[in-house]
Amino acid sequence: MPTIDRSAPVLVTGANGYIASWLAKYLLEQGFTVHGSVRDSRNTDKVGHLLKLGEAHPGQLQLFDADLLREGSFDAAMAGCQLVFHTASPFIVRGIKDPQAQLVEPALSGTRNVLQAANRCDSVQRVILTTSVAAVYGDFADIELIDGHAFNEGHWNTSSSLSHQPYNYSKTVAEKEAWDICAQQSRWDLVAINPGLVLGPSLARASDSTSLSTMLELVDGTLRMGVPKLRMPLVDVRDVAHAHILAATNPEAEGRHLLVGDTASLLQLARMIEAEHGDRYPTPQRELPKFLTWLLGPLAGISRKMVARNVGYAVAFDCSKAIEELGMQFRPLPETVRDHLQQMVADGLV
Ligand code: NAP
Repeated sequence: MPTIDRSAPVLVTGANGYIASWLAKYLLEQGFTVHGSVRDSRNTDKVGHLLKLGEAHPGQLQLFDADLLREGSFDAAMAGCQLVFHTASPFIVRGIKDPQAQLVEPALSGTRNVLQAANRCDSVQRVILTTSVAAVYGDFADIELIDGHAFNEGHWNTSSSLSHQPYNYSKTVAEKEAWDICAQQSRWDLVAINPGLVLGPSLARASDSTSLSTMLELVDGTLRMGVPKLRMPLVDVRDVAHAHILAATNPEAEGRHLLVGDTASLLQLARMIEAEHGDRYPTPQRELPKFLTWLLGPLAGISRKMVARNVGYAVAFDCSKAIEELGMQFRPLPETVRDHLQQMVADGLV
């Protein structure tokens, strides 16, 4: 990958999304011209925050309509771009009725459509793919299958399927497809970013991201009766956005990059909220015994297999590649949680 031409536009797919909005903001602040693809640029509920970013950076942001499921959809937005950030993909884990249509199709066809557009677009030299730790492991129980007991970039999710952890499955098949398409040509290279569960303040008001519902449920009373004992890999949304830019602008960057700043249980997240706000919010006060979570899980849309293979496991992640190669530094988790709640209060969500 030659030196970055900072005068060339860059494409951010799904630019209105939770992670992509921060990415677009930082790219604009660094002087890049951003082509943001969205599903409907006239939907001001979804793109209003982007329009404001554009006003703060006159002439630097242009929105394009594109759908992951429509072939050729990304050609116009990609024209002239040297860098393509492909972030668009649904991040929903509950209430899924048709996993193929709701998750796998947009993830997989979207990856194909964006990368086939890159094959047609002579200016593209690097694609930065927002994949996930979900493409690295399927369930926390998978930790028992690996040597060293810390997940790293060499591991792939082998336990997810359409019927079990379909979001993780969608990210796995989409990332594999991306590496396969990349291997068939040599003009552009691919750098993957694999974040854990992303938390932190949202610029996007109307995102469906599970990140936002997770944080909301900790303070709106949904989890008042208790939470499963789940220790999650976490990372700040602003760190994830920065990682994308570091991956794009470092000519030496290659391969996958795990991004996990810290791990914490849902109860520990609740304790961080209480440390700032006392008993102002109806946060969960205890962890439910595993058998009770197993029994009641299906009522909350969580399968018994998911409970059996995730609750109570200790997981670890080796993120040394992102730290050494990209120069990543991770924000302290309490800061992420504090800033996220502050944003939700400021936006009238709690
Ligand atoms: P998000 O706010 O829901 O963003 C998803 C984006 O994908 C939105 O712009 C959405 O557009 C777009 N999209 C969905 N279906 C589409 C379709 N058929 N055509 C065009 N665009 C479509 O979620 P996010 O959390 O920022 O996630 C962004 C990326 O990060 C995803 O690839 C996700 O898998 C990955 N990731 C997220 C996390 C996390 O914890 N948040 C962790 C690891 C990886 P609409 O707004 O129109 O629906």
